[in-house]
Amino acid sequence: MNGEFAGLVAVVTGGGSGIGLAAARLLADRGAAVACLDLDPSGVPDPLLGVECDVTDAGSVTQAVTLAADRLGALDVLVNNAGIGAQGSVEANSDDEWHRVLDVNVVGIVRVTRAALPYLRASSCAAIVNTCSIAATAGLPNRALYSATKGAVQSLTLAMAADHVGEGIRVNCVNPGTVDTPWVRRLLDSAGDPAAELTALRARQPIGRLVSAAEVATAIAYLASPLAASTTGTVLAVDGGMHGLRLRQA
Ligand code: NAD
Repeated sequence: MNGEFAGLVAVVTGGGSGIGLAAARLLADRGAAVACLDLDPSGVPDPLLGVECDVTDAGSVTQAVTLAADRLGALDVLVNNAGIGAQGSVEANSDDEWHRVLDVNVVGIVRVTRAALPYLRASSCAAIVNTCSIAATAGLPNRALYSATKGAVQSLTLAMAADHVGEGIRVNCVNPGTVDTPWVRRLLDSAGDPAAELTALRARQPIGRLVSAAEVATAIAYLASPLAASTTGTVLAVDGGMHGLRLRQA
C-alpha cells in the first residue's frame, strides 16, 4: 500500500462514527492498518478493525489497545477522538454529569494514552492527535461543561507534548468548529426548529457552512503523519474561521 502511513498502525477512539470514522478511513486509504475503538464498533467497515472499548473503563481500554496492537502488529499513531457533549450553563448540569463528561472527554484520553505509550515508545514515528474543539477557547454560550472539558484537552495536549518530546512522540490537537456528524444531526433533530437551528449553526461560522468530517480527518492525518515530523505541541483549528476571524472582529 502506498501513502505516508504505509507500514504504520493507527488506533482511533470513537472510530465508530463521525470524525473518528472519517479519520480512520483516511489513514487506511493512505496506507495504515487501523483499529477503531468504540462503545459501538458495529458500523466499522472493512478493512478497519472494529474493537469494542469504553474509554471510561481502564480494563476495557487496556484490553482493546492490547488487542489492536497484537492483531495489527504495532501501534504508531493514536487518535484520541472519543467524546460526548453537554449543554447548559454551570447551573444546568449536576456534579454527576460533570464527572461523567470529564471522565469520557479528558480522563478517557489519559487512560488510552497510558495504555498506548509502551507501544508508541517502540515506534520510530509515533504521533498522538487529540480531538479538541473550538469550545476550548471560544467562550461559547450554553456549553460550560463541554467547554471546560475541551479546555482541559487543549492543556493536556501541550503537557503531553512536553513530557514525551524527548521520546520522539509528537502530540498535537485539532480544534474543529461545528462539524456535520451524526452527533450534530442528533442535536438538530432534538431542536424545536431543526431548519432554523441549522441556519444558525452555519451562520456562526464565517465560511457560512458546517465543517465536514473529511476536512477534520485531513487535519488529523497531517498531524499524525511523518510529514509533520517537526510539529508537536500545536493546536490546528478547523473551524471555518470561527476563532481567528471572530477575534479580529471583536
Ligand atoms: P459522534 O457522536 O458522531 O462520534 C463519537 C463516537 O465516540 C461515537 O461512535 C461514540 O460511540 C464514541 N464514544 C462515546 N463515548 C465513548 C466511550 N466512553 N468510549 C468509547 N467510545 C465512545 O461525534 P463526532 O461529532 O464525530 O465527535 C467526535 C469528537 O469530535 C468528540 O471528541 C467531539 O467532542 C469532537 N468535536 C465534535 C464537533 C462537532 O461539531 N461534531 C466539534 C468539535 C469537536
